[in-house]
Amino acid sequence: MIPVSEALDHLFALAPVLPTEWVPLARANGRVLSQSVSASRDQPPFPASAMDGYAVTDLAQSYDVIGESAAGHGFTGSVAAGQAVRIFTGAPVPQGATRIILQEDVTRTGTRIDVTGTPEDSSFIRPAGNDFRAGAELPAPKRLTPNDIALLAAMNIDSVPVTRKPSVALISTGDELVMPGETPGPDQIIASNTFGLRALLDDLGAKPRLLPLAKDTRSSLTTAFGLAQGADLIVTIGGASVGDHDLVAGVAQELGMTQAFHKVAMRPGKPLMSGQMGTAMMLGLPGNPVSAMVCGHVFLAPVIRAMQGLGRSPAPRTSATLTHALSKNGPREHYMRATTDEAGRLTVFDRQDSALLSVLGQANALAIRPPHDPARQAGDRLEILKI
Ligand code: AMP
Ligand code: MG
Repeated sequence: MIPVSEALDHLFALAPVLPTEWVPLARANGRVLSQSVSASRDQPPFPASAMDGYAVTDLAQSYDVIGESAAGHGFTGSVAAGQAVRIFTGAPVPQGATRIILQEDVTRTGTRIDVTGTPEDSSFIRPAGNDFRAGAELPAPKRLTPNDIALLAAMNIDSVPVTRKPSVALISTGDELVMPGETPGPDQIIASNTFGLRALLDDLGAKPRLLPLAKDTRSSLTTAFGLAQGADLIVTIGGASVGDHDLVAGVAQELGMTQAFHKVAMRPGKPLMSGQMGTAMMLGLPGNPVSAMVCGHVFLAPVIRAMQGLGRSPAPRTSATLTHALSKNGPREHYMRATTDEAGRLTVFDRQDSALLSVLGQANALAIRPPHDPARQAGDRLEILKI
């Protein structure tokens, strides 16, 4: 058994950063920018009015209104002392104008305006390049958010370099499994973590592919691995312990998998394995539903992020304050289902059996107990991983 951090090091060594592909801006949300991109123009491209009002060049009591500048329709002349140009938000500030007098500070009579309010100090002019200048960068790597998409559009970028989506083949193993919606036999259960992991992979921006359920036979597993060809990552679920029906490690090795490790000192999730299988990375997850999901958060998510070029770092941890006492931990790092609130209070569930998805469903964090962590009291800080 190796510690979690060592297992992660092995996984990062196996996980390639995937190549770049170009996608239209409209499809770039959630993708990982793989090369920095830069603006080809200033924004705004011209000095622009920040308000509706009158563009003037001096401060006076009254002005002659000589024209209008609206967004998309600038005023072509220039403004001299005593003159004003009616202007609207986003419109180009005419030549010669140095400030905008707000429309609420004037009274207009025909083509005259009289200043009736007290103009503020601000010029209400956004200089050219106020937002960003030509050449300004959006640095890679970065998972693109809707805000980034707006910025990229303003930069006039319509095609974006992103890392290819990791393609992940998911192989569930076990004679007892049927798919959700099917009618299980008396000894059967529904494949559950398969769908949880698929959802996790969707959230991470990977391209998961659910393969048909594999039986606990060499031939069925061999067929499943065959169908997984072409994936960047093959994830097996179950069959990873050392029981008579746990064939995954053996079959994978027969098919040429070079094993990097098998078994990690953690709870839940001990029978984790990984290796290289042809051109694919292989990750063998335990079958217990919660173990598989916890390993998804602790190992699979960082692997996907590494493949996307977001760096090789463990799932981010924060800390929270226990609301109650906890007994001491054993020799394995324990990821305990827990809830944490906005005030940073942490409550760990009493029931931690690795088969209890209902408890996982109520949890929004995993409280992390290091190996041999002593008993803890209410008020102690614990590291957590938000899930
Ligand atoms: P295994 O690692 O194959 O020994 O499986 C451990 C436990 O997890 C057994 O109780 C299996 O029935 C269960 N299990 C395995 N795979 C899945 C799955 N995809 N969905 C739900 N439970 C599973
Ligand atoms: Mg099994």
